[in-house]
Formats: sequence, C-alpha cells, structure tokens
Amino acid sequence: MRRFTLQPEQVAGGRVTFDAGESHHLTRVLRLRPGDTVVATDGAGRDYTVRLESLGDAAVGTVIGEAAGVAASPLAITLIQGVPKGDKMEAIVRAVTELGVARVQPALCERTIVRLDAPRWRERARRWQRVAREAAKQCGRAVIPEVEAPRPLGDWLATASVADLHLCLWAGDGAGLSGVLATMSSLRSARVLVGPEGGLGSAEIARARAHGLTVVSLGPRILRTETAGPAIVAILQSRFGDLG
Ligand code: SAH
Repeated sequence: MRRFTLQPEQVAGGRVTFDAGESHHLTRVLRLRPGDTVVATDGAGRDYTVRLESLGDAAVGTVIGEAAGVAASPLAITLIQGVPKGDKMEAIVRAVTELGVARVQPALCERTIVRLDAPRWRERARRWQRVAREAAKQCGRAVIPEVEAPRPLGDWLATASVADLHLCLWAGDGAGLSGVLATMSSLRSARVLVGPEGGLGSAEIARARAHGLTVVSLGPRILRTETAGPAIVAILQSRFGDLG
C-alpha cells in the first residue's frame, strides 16, 4: 500500500490533516474518496491507518489504527558528502536513503564547482529533503533521513560528533577499509566523508585527519562520487546494520 507522510504535529486527537502536497496527491492524483483508507507515516517511526473524511486542499482523516513503523537501522550513519555538479546529489540522496543513511551533511569543498548564495543553497537543500522524503516513502522507510543545508567542509568537520567511527574516504594509498573494520565487533554510529567528483584536496584530507577521521581506501578502483557514498553506506549497513 502506498504510504503518505505526516509531521507528528499533523496528528491530533485521533485526526490527521495532510499538508498541501499530500492532499493534492490524495485528491487530484489518486482521486480517493471519503471512506477510503491509506497508511501515513510520521517520519519518526509511527505508522497510522487513516480513513479519509474529506478531500481537497487540506485532506482530513480519522486514525483507525496505529503501529510502530519499520524500525530504524541499529546503525546511524552520517554522510558528509562533497557537493557534486548537476543533479548527482539527488541521485546520492535517493540511493543512500534506500540503503539506510541517517543524515546527510552536504559539504562545500575546495573542488565543489557550484557556487550559490546562502538562500539558494537552502533552496537546494529543500529539494534534496523532498528527494529523501519521496525515496523513504517509496522504499517503505518510516524514518526520513535528515538532509541539512550545505556548509563549508571545515564547519562539518568541526561539528561535535559522538559517532563510534569517523572515516574519510580517499582513493589514495591509505589503509584499506576492511582492515579498519576487522578490528570492530559492533558499530552503532559512523560519520563518513566522501569528496566531490574532483576529490578532496590535500589540505582537506589533513584537516579531516586533524579532526580525528581515519583516512581509508575502498580498494583499487576509483569510484565516482555518486557511487562512493552509496557503496560505503551499503558496506557498513551490511556489516553492522540492517542490510542483507
Ligand atoms: N579524481 C579524484 C577522484 C574523486 S572520486 C581523486 O583523485 O581524488 C570522489 C570521491 O569518492 C573521493 O573524494 C573519495 O572520497 C571517494 N572515492 C572514490 N573512489 C574511492 C576509493 N577507491 N577509495 C576511497 N574513496 C574513494
């Protein structure tokens, strides 16, 4: 069954009011009628079965069932992704949402080509958030990953993190990832940096090291940036999380 999304505050007193986007979908695209039932997820791990009462610009329904949604993965991964050109970021957000990322922090790197002012970056971030929300809905994921507004890489590196593992992916002759993971028996949280298509500069690698990130290689082949992020999320979720 198709899932709709809600913010937790849109559920009150056993009634649900859908936002404009979801109302449009229910009313104009799917042409549902009062009495039809849908499943709505609040993005925080609750699923509601909702009987529609009225359709229109603000569709309203009654909650007739409530359940814990599909649980979030036991491994929370934060991906610090160097912002690439064009719509590659959308592809990355979509793939890592399916694979189980918890949070994406888009980073403006030395070799990030796109230059925008702060309001336009925020607008981009809203677009990526919509992609995450759509991808979460499509793959049946209850908790929508957070995509933050882009910030300079140095800001993200300096942001306090309590993750158990901090990695900087570098296609150079650094330690192999498997050697680093071999020493770990469990992992609850990880923070991973992936460079943009031109890679990370040597000053950026040094800065990542200075902030406690371990520089690792994924092996002999150089992956595109839109492959590297999904690959590391898949590897970590498969080994320590809920993939596979
Ligand atoms: N020409 C660039 C390649 C960038 S690939 C360079 O020489 O650095 C984009 C990003 O993907 C890199 O910054 C790195 O974070 C990641 N990446 C790609 N292949 C990788 C590999 N084999 N090991 C580790 N990271 C890799």
